[in-house]
Amino acid sequence: MTKIGILPCGGACNVGMLTIKATIAMVKENEAVKYVCPLGLPLGIQSIIAQARQSEKFIALNGCEMECASKALQAVSITPEKAILLTAEYGLKKNKNFDDETKLSEIISDIRGEVDLIMAK
Ligand code: SF4
Repeated sequence: MTKIGILPCGGACNVGMLTIKATIAMVKENEAVKYVCPLGLPLGIQSIIAQARQSEKFIALNGCEMECASKALQAVSITPEKAILLTAEYGLKKNKNFDDETKLSEIISDIRGEVDLIMAK
């Protein structure tokens, strides 16, 4: 079974929270999916980098165009199979309502599809 690491940007805003909520949902429903700590990679924390590398494929979940999740993976020379950008792809605007779950079910459904595609390769 291909292990797939999902790295949420985890930003302090609605879209950052959506990346975390979507990652948690995927981890709960699919044991092949692993939650990759977003900060440990660019900070060079070796144990977290080693844990992340136990996954074979990666999905970067970026809340906004700053693309922090993708950059965190780049910091350790990992190229994700898929990078998702919530504001651009789902027409979301950043706000400070951490409870805003607009488009969450659609995002989870799309990530599920990406996971299935990666696992089928
Ligand atoms: S990608 Fe955007 S929302 Fe996510 S941590 Fe970076 S600045 Fe914040």
